[in-house]
Amino acid sequence: MTEVPRPPDFPPASLRAEALESLLVERGLVDPSVVDGLIRTYEQDVGPLNGARIVARAWTDPKYKQRLLADGTSAVAEFGFKGPQGEHIVVVENTPTDHHVVVCTLCSCYPWPLLGLPPSWYKDPAYRSRIVREPRTLLAELGLELADEVEIHVHDSSSEVRYFVLPARPVGTETLTEEELVPLVSRDAMVGVARVAVPSLPG
Ligand code: FE
Repeated sequence: MTEVPRPPDFPPASLRAEALESLLVERGLVDPSVVDGLIRTYEQDVGPLNGARIVARAWTDPKYKQRLLADGTSAVAEFGFKGPQGEHIVVVENTPTDHHVVVCTLCSCYPWPLLGLPPSWYKDPAYRSRIVREPRTLLAELGLELADEVEIHVHDSSSEVRYFVLPARPVGTETLTEEELVPLVSRDAMVGVARVAVPSLPG
């Protein structure tokens, strides 16, 4: 997408958001306590742990995985995960032959109920354009080297669809329970810019 040129003294986004919020409050269109509550919820209570629980369930329960891939929104709602930016969740599965990675080329659409608020790199124009133009190179720079025969699929999240990656279950985790698998699943793996690391198992 084209970057909108800004004058050098253009105020930062936080300041503009603040100005916009005070205007909306002044007009009686927005209740500031509601806004504060929403931010607190997604900063503190909702985070990648929700997504990790979904992944661990899908890895250990084939029927659940089937439901998740068929209809992401209702399968994650079984956990009670829903709300803003979680209305249309589509789950894509990483396999040895196909790698999925998610971006929002337009802004920063992201499955909030599963991953919390997006990290700053996800909103960075460099990530948003390069992951589309040269995904293999960018993923390698981020530490994820994919073999040439692995096909890369880049998914553009939007207000219509929020993509969520079901990472591949690492070899060596066969004996782990669902509960033990949860902490292995990283946010980056659920965006598709990393693999789930193989844990060093005792013994
Ligand atoms: Fe967006």
